[in-house]
Amino acid sequence: MQTYDVTEWGKPLQLAVKETPVPQGTEVLIKLKYCGVCHSDVHIRDGYFDLGGGKRFYMSERGMKPPVTLGHEPYGTVVSAGPDAGDVPVGQDRLVFPWTGCGTCARCLEGKDNWCAAPRFIGIQRAGGYGEYLLVPHPRYLVDATGVDPAYAPILACSGLTTYSAINKLKPFSKDGWTVIMGAGGLGLMAVAMLRAMGETRIVCCDIDASKLGPAKEAGAAEVMNPADADSLAKLQALPGGVAGVVDLVGAAQTAQLGLAALRKGGRYVVVGLFGGEIPVSLVPMAQRAITLQGSYVGDVQELREVVALAQSGKLKPIPVETRPASEISRTLDELKAGTVIGRVVAAMA
Ligand SMILES: [Zn+2]
Ligand SMILES: [Zn+2]
Repeated sequence: MQTYDVTEWGKPLQLAVKETPVPQGTEVLIKLKYCGVCHSDVHIRDGYFDLGGGKRFYMSERGMKPPVTLGHEPYGTVVSAGPDAGDVPVGQDRLVFPWTGCGTCARCLEGKDNWCAAPRFIGIQRAGGYGEYLLVPHPRYLVDATGVDPAYAPILACSGLTTYSAINKLKPFSKDGWTVIMGAGGLGLMAVAMLRAMGETRIVCCDIDASKLGPAKEAGAAEVMNPADADSLAKLQALPGGVAGVVDLVGAAQTAQLGLAALRKGGRYVVVGLFGGEIPVSLVPMAQRAITLQGSYVGDVQELREVVALAQSGKLKPIPVETRPASEISRTLDELKAGTVIGRVVAAMA
């Protein structure tokens, strides 16, 4: 089979020809149809994430050694399975949950693979979807996305799940409070669309880039604002019912400070973005205001099924997706790095 591999950090992907894997044990073999090209693959191809403040997070320290096959938004047809996989939907198309763990610890067995201490994520520690075939460790990671456009479904596995899982941490939604979304980029627009699909309307979207506020309104935010404005905190605190929840898709010191300060009593601040930074947290008001400060990273397989169900319901407004041939993944990563891609790109693998 053919795969597109990182053979050297920071260099274009190289076409490789290798043996098609044979599924063992509980493994399932997928013939790929599509794989989303995610912005985080730009950093993974470079070999590191820049966390801001001069700090870097190196993929080599996370057990990645080239050559590696990236691609963590895979979608394809089940072709075969190992002898212990049980009933497997051979011949049917499935979306693959990529955030797999060791598969044997208590977290993995309770379905919280994304909280496994020894992650084996597809497209990161395990071979991913930029190729003809993909080995999935167990059929429980296959999600039936029938009814969702197969060229759109892949993005639900990463950006869709990430935003959904963060929003999920605000549940049960307050009856009168507002939800603040920090950041109106691709994830921000998806977060607004998801809240709307769940029936929420009291949504404020914040971004320091004024050109992003119009699209945030179009996506369904009732209010938009520039968090750098001197009166932004006063405006948020003046919202009738107050701010019950914040999803911070930026994750910078300024957005965290503003988000935590804006919360009403009992409010929740959930950080997702990896911009980087540090904030001092004053403990007495944290206790007195009974606020929650929580992190969120990707999501679990049950949450992915819920995201897919939301898309199947037709209530989730899709974001623009462009399909390109697999041979253009490397060029797409260059464009993502340069910031010239609008919406998301999904590679057609077959
Ligand atoms: Zn991703
Ligand atoms: Zn585990």
